[in-house]
Amino acid sequence: IVHIDGISKSFGKTVALQKLDMKINAGEFVTFLGPSGCGKSTTLRILGGFERPDGGRVLLSGKDVTHLPPNKRKVNMVFQDYALFPHMTVMRNVSFGLELKRMTKDQIAARVDELLSFLELDAFRDRFPDQLSGGQRQRVALARALAPDPELLLLDEPLGALDARLRAQVQVELKDIQRRTGKTFFFVTHDQDEALTMSDRIVVMNQGRVEQDGTPEDLYLRPKSRFVAEFIGDTN
Ligand code: ATP
Ligand code: MG
Repeated sequence: IVHIDGISKSFGKTVALQKLDMKINAGEFVTFLGPSGCGKSTTLRILGGFERPDGGRVLLSGKDVTHLPPNKRKVNMVFQDYALFPHMTVMRNVSFGLELKRMTKDQIAARVDELLSFLELDAFRDRFPDQLSGGQRQRVALARALAPDPELLLLDEPLGALDARLRAQVQVELKDIQRRTGKTFFFVTHDQDEALTMSDRIVVMNQGRVEQDGTPEDLYLRPKSRFVAEFIGDTN
C-alpha cells in the first residue's frame, strides 16, 4: 500500500499541495489527472524522494519513507524526456544503476538480459539512444527504471513525446507491462481518454487537493463535482 498522509508543499507563496491524502493498493495502475499546475508532478517527486514535503508523511508498505533519499526507497521514476544516457548503449543504460549496487557482474548481466528480453529490446542492445525510435527509447527508459526491482514506478507524462499512433501502441504495452510485473504504477497524463482506458484507479486533482478518486467507471458515471464531470467529459 502507498499511503500519502496529509502532504503539504509550497514554493514561496505558491501552494502546490494542501494536505493531500490518498491510499493506493499495491499492484494497481493509478493515473493522476488534472489541469496544469494542480500538483501532479510535485506529488510524484515527493513520492520519489526528489522533493521534501513541508508537512505530512509518505508510507510505503507501512514504512515511513518521508525523510529517506531516493536510493533508499523502493521507488523509481521515468521522466517525460526519458533522460537516457546518450553516450551509453541500451545495455549500459539498463545496467548502469545496477553497477552501483552490490551485485556481481554475472547477476547484473542476467538481470539486464531478462529485462531486454521482457521488453523486446534484445536486437537493440548495442545501439545508442539516438539510434532508436521514440517507442524504443521509452521501453529502454522503462527497462532502466524496472532494473532495481522497485515496488512503485512513477511515470510523469511518459508518452507526451510520441505521435498519436505510437502513443496508442505504447499505452497498450505499458498497461501490459504493469499487469505482467504486478507492480504499482503511478502515471501522470493530461489525456482523459488515456486515463480512462489504462487505469485501475484515477485520482483527479485540483489545486493541490484530491478532487475525487475512484475507478474509471466511478468517475465517468458518478462524478462527485462539476469540476470532475467537466474534466472527465472534456474529450478535446
Ligand atoms: P503540469 O500538468 O503543467 O505538469 P502539474 O500538475 O505537474 O502541472 P506541478 O509541477 O506539480 O503541477 O506544480 C504545482 C504548482 O507548484 C504550480 O503552481 C507550479 O508553478 C508550482 N511549482 C512546482 N515546482 C516549483 C518550483 N520548483 N518552484 C516554484 N514553483 C513550483
Ligand atoms: Mg507536471
